[in-house]
Amino acid sequence: MVAAVIGDPVTHSLSPALHNAAFSALGVDWVYVAFHVPGGSAGAAVEAMRALGLGGLSVTMPHKADAVGGVDRLGPVATRLGVVNTISWARSKDQELVGESTDGAGFIDALKGDEGFDPSGRRCVVLGTGGAARSVTLALADAGASSVAVVGRKASAAQACAELAGVAGSSADASDLAEAMAEADLLVNATPVGMASGDRLPFAMKPEWVRSDHFVADLIYAPARTPLLMEARARGAAAVNGLGMLIHQAGRQVEVWTGRPAPLEAMSAAALAALAALAHPSE
Ligand code: NAP
Repeated sequence: MVAAVIGDPVTHSLSPALHNAAFSALGVDWVYVAFHVPGGSAGAAVEAMRALGLGGLSVTMPHKADAVGGVDRLGPVATRLGVVNTISWARSKDQELVGESTDGAGFIDALKGDEGFDPSGRRCVVLGTGGAARSVTLALADAGASSVAVVGRKASAAQACAELAGVAGSSADASDLAEAMAEADLLVNATPVGMASGDRLPFAMKPEWVRSDHFVADLIYAPARTPLLMEARARGAAAVNGLGMLIHQAGRQVEVWTGRPAPLEAMSAAALAALAALAHPSE
């Protein structure tokens, strides 16, 4: 069986390494490839999945919203978010494609399962209002967070994101961040601030706003250590990058496609090796 990812760009995607390691560890006759699909062609790519009989499809930027129109049915999370990152064949009905989003569940798997931080009853701050922030905000609310404050540059986007958390959600701008952090247990960076060399903390956050009893999650995984994670650890806070989320969202794809538990250790080792190869391409 062949599974694939569609995206643009897709050259440096870790997905082939993660999924092929999973298939190999499971001993199943599956292979995973990356297709460079330009923006606007998600519908055609989903049709190609039907024609080629692909066993599963991962969907990444810029296709997550457009791919919704290509599937026959959406899972519960994709219905609320309006985006998909996973396409699979329905078990109960032949020839029916189902779109779902595993990003938020992957985040909770990593936070709760790997790090032992249960968001139930906790007060959370999410920085950013894009696709990752929306997945995480919904997942935190579904996991029982008592509050999710979304901080964004655009008030309307912050509000729309916060609405995903229902009564637990609220929106704020950068001027409210100190107060929001003072009341929070969990801080999630869902902006790309920290990826580029020379980046500092998101939203001009002051390092002293981080307390030792905060849990800080940065969704960035390359670099593995962002300025936010380093400041948080320097202040004694528990802090984790986005690699666990990446591995778990892929693990959930493996499970839905093959019906087998994801071999997370093999996937994690493959992700670390692929990241090292990207960082030192000549070695
Ligand atoms: P996105 O849809 O482009 O959203 C980015 C968000 O960050 C937007 O709200 C944007 O605000 C905000 N932002 C960008 N630059 C900013 C700045 N200088 N100051 C404050 N806010 C800023 O991207 P995404 O897909 O949500 O991804 C966000 C981050 O999460 C990326 O670093 C990505 O690598 C990471 N991610 C990780 C995983 C994982 O599995 N670990 C999965 C998905 C994403 P505006 O709308 O105002 O521009």
